Parts: sequence; structure tokens; C-alpha cells
Amino acid sequence: MAQAPKSHGRKTIRATRTPSSLIGTDEELSGVWQARIVTLFPDTFPGVLGLSLTGKALQDGRWQLHTHDLRSFGVGKHRNVDDTPAGGGAGMVMRADVVGPAIEAAQRFARGRWPILYMSPRGRPFTQEMAKDLARCDGVTVLCGRFEGVDERVLEHFGVTEVSIGDYVLTGGEIAAQTVLDATVRLLPGVLGNVESTVEESHSNGLLEHPQFTRPALWEGHAIPDVLMSGNHAEIAKWREAESHRLTQKRRPDLWAAKTGKD
Ligand code: SAH
Repeated sequence: MAQAPKSHGRKTIRATRTPSSLIGTDEELSGVWQARIVTLFPDTFPGVLGLSLTGKALQDGRWQLHTHDLRSFGVGKHRNVDDTPAGGGAGMVMRADVVGPAIEAAQRFARGRWPILYMSPRGRPFTQEMAKDLARCDGVTVLCGRFEGVDERVLEHFGVTEVSIGDYVLTGGEIAAQTVLDATVRLLPGVLGNVESTVEESHSNGLLEHPQFTRPALWEGHAIPDVLMSGNHAEIAKWREAESHRLTQKRRPDLWAAKTGKD
């Protein structure tokens, strides 16, 4: 087996590529949609959100991202953020007297309609509808959990909405938060070049999108469906609608039933 290079496993890679001037807790662009992230790992932001369309939009000031480092709210010499669960059991729980002040610090910047979300596998399953609604807010504060999660009293005290990205358990809320932000930010005005692409895509109308093709016309003996090469826009629209219906019925009978009222 080939020897791994000397640097193997040692290289440190910074998780963020966005100019740090764009992520902070101070400078604010007025009237711009804003995300405030409460996390133990602020370096994981913007992460993928700093790239491509969402990254360009961040640089262009179409939205703003600020992190609040939970560690700086930690208690004692070691800035502890967690403690053992009341009643016993495995793991650690994030302390109310740490998470509470961190949320308060984030909320000092809140204006207008500004929900506080806690990423949690117990939460309401995240959907395109929720992304659309979030995009219509003025901003959002997102709490990322670690360990066994956060003290329940914080969630009740701030009227936090728990949101899940699916029925599985992650190690922390940061990837989940980036999922929610990605889905939301791309719906903000001016973020996607082509507005049509949010109208026709999967889930925007309760259906899955039709298949897509591009050049070359013939690849490995597989041709693009004739109708798409015909130039007949009415026929193309008909084909795409039929394919969207066929795929939704086959793959997501739950969506199909909700859309059509039949099985
Ligand atoms: N003990 C918790 C799981 C904690 S997982 C329970 O059983 O419900 C640690 C953190 O990861 C959570 O606090 C949450 O912020 C995040 N997380 C894990 N799975 C998630 C999911 N499906 N959706 C959103 N956030 C999740």
C-alpha cells in the first residue's frame, strides 16, 4: 500500500472562506435579512454558505450572518457550558445560565418578525413552506445544540421553535442550521439569478421536479428525449408536467395524495 504523505491526517483546514469582516456581531446593514447563530463552534460558519450563490449574496450584503460563541458565555474559570443531566443518565446538557444569556445577546439585534429556532431531532420537520416563511421574516436566531441538547427551561422561556432536518440524530446543530439557512437564503430577493428556478423546482408546488438534461445530445449511447430537442415549447411544458406527476406519484405517494386528494 502506498505510504500516506507526511501531512496526512495533520492538515488543518479552516471551515470558513468568507472574509471575516462579513461575519461579526457588530456591523449591521439596515433592513437586510439577518441570521444570528448561537453555537459552540462559530468557526463552522459560514461553511458551505460562504460559497457559490449564498456566499456571493453574503458578500453582496443581500443577507448577513453573525455568530455568538457559547463558550464566551461559559461559567467559571473553564468557561463550562454543560453539566450532567438532572435525574441522571448518559451525556451532558447545555446549561440554561449559559445558553440563556447567549440568546439574549443575539436577540438584542432582533427587529420585526424574528423567530428563535432550536435545531433539534424532536422538532417540527423542516419544509420548503417553512423556508418561504423564514425568508419573509426580518431575520432569525438559530440555536445549535451539542451533547444531549439544551436545558428545557431555555426553550420555554424564550418561546423557541424546535426544528428538525430529518428523522436521524446529528452530533450537533450546526449542519442542520446551515441546511435551514441555505434553503431560506436562496429564496431572498436577488439571491438566485433566475427567479423562475424557485417557482418550478421540487417542493415549491408540492411536486417533484421533472428530469433535467444538457449537452451532449448523445452520451454513452443515451439520447436526450426527442421532445426536449423539438423546440415545441407547449409540448415540452406538457412533457415536463407529466414527468413531474409520474415521479411524484412513484417516489412520494404522500406528496401526491396531499396535492391531488387521491392515492
Ligand atoms: N439527545 C437529543 C439529541 C442530541 S443531538 C435527543 O435525543 O433528542 C445533539 C444536537 O444536534 C442537538 O441538540 C441538535 O441541535 C442537533 N441535532 C441532532 N439531530 C438533529 C436533527 N435531526 N435536526 C436538527 N438538529 C439536530
